[in-house]
Amino acid sequence: MGIIKLIFVALLVFVGFFLLKKFRKPVNTIVQQPSTNKMVACSVCNTHIPENEAIIQNGRIYCSKEHLE
Ligand SMILES: [Zn+2]
Repeated sequence: MGIIKLIFVALLVFVGFFLLKKFRKPVNTIVQQPSTNKMVACSVCNTHIPENEAIIQNGRIYCSKEHLE
């Protein structure tokens, strides 16, 4: 009787953690993704970087100062 109860409790805890993880994940993804964070490609090496981190000069996009020169 004792072991069965222990297994049942362990199962409940496991399911509880699983559901918590499942419900929390979509919320975190929405928070971590600002709608303004558009990905752009560097015109030198074609690396995709967030638009707010890119260097834009003369209509061209660069990932770093090294590629700007
Ligand atoms: Zn680059």
